[in-house]
Parts: sequence; structure tokens; C-alpha cells
Amino acid sequence: MPILLYPDPHLRYECHLMNRFDRWLAGVCDAMFREMGNSKGIGLAAPQVGLPFSLFVMKIPEPQVYINPTVQYYGTTTTENEACLSIPGLIAPVARFNKIRISASDQQGIPFQKLLSGLAARCAQHEYDHLQGVLFTDRCQKGLEQAEFLAQLAEKQAVQGDRVVLSEKDTERLNDLRRQYCYGDA
Ligand SMILES: [Zn+2]
Repeated sequence: MPILLYPDPHLRYECHLMNRFDRWLAGVCDAMFREMGNSKGIGLAAPQVGLPFSLFVMKIPEPQVYINPTVQYYGTTTTENEACLSIPGLIAPVARFNKIRISASDQQGIPFQKLLSGLAARCAQHEYDHLQGVLFTDRCQKGLEQAEFLAQLAEKQAVQGDRVVLSEKDTERLNDLRRQYCYGDA
């Protein structure tokens, strides 16, 4: 389960709500925690490992799986440096709410709520964004600098532009996972 790097098109995938919680999924969550630990990250979202699920894992304030999360924002925002395991080498300032209430389910489908603040709230907002295909570079303050950095990165990886498309094989794989683990289209 390697962590996909920008500009991999999975990072722009809009994830689907899950309705199946089984042993395979629990194994996926374990693998994501391992991968996050190996990379010294504090959060990792499903699209970063090529999965179409509304799911992320986070190790602060304690290890927790968040499935089908919804977020309510509170209070003021603070701008601080952020980084992403999928965009190595880039650290940039992003404004985030200081406090959030997050509602989600764990890997067994059991719902819970948490109030998060500080770094945990920032991390959760970053991971929640991933589920919508939003990267922190989309939100960071220094527009031009970021654009240059990302252009260089894309060039280095010999891919044109940002919104690169999924291969047929990947699309099929994601659709298959979606059919097995997510609600159908309304
Ligand atoms: Zn990230």
C-alpha cells in the first residue's frame, strides 16, 4: 500500500460514503496506520492509497479511524505551516479553523463524535479535504510560489498539469471497490 504522490489522479478523486464494514476493511485501516507510521505522518486519507472511500486515519489526539466524516467548524482560524505525505518537500501556510466537531463511524461502523482543537483539528480538516479531492496546496496562501513548486513537481514526474485522469484499469478498480463497500448512486 504505497502512498501515492502528487500529481497522481487518485488525489483528485471525490470519495464515496461507505456502508460495508468487514475484516478486509479493518485490514485496510491497519495497513494505513502502518504506512502513516512508516512515513512519520499524523494522518492519511483513503485517496492517498488509491481507495475511493470516505475514510481517513489519524493518530492524534489518539489513533482513530474516521469513516463517512462530517465536520462542523467553530471559532476563528489560525494560519500555520502544513505538509502532506503525498506532496513531499512542500511546507506551506494554510488557514484552518481552531475547533471542529467531527461525526464519523469507526472501522466497525459504530458512530462517534469528537471535539478537536489545535493540531488535531488542523489535521482532521486536511484529511477531510482529501476525501473531496482537495489538497492543501489548493488552500495555501502563497499562490504563486505554490504554483511554481507544483509545476516543477509535475514536470519532474513527467506528467502534464494537475487534473490528470485515471487510467481505465484504475477506474475499473475504484468502481469495483465502490460497488462492494459504498452506497449506490442516488
Ligand atoms: Zn495530505
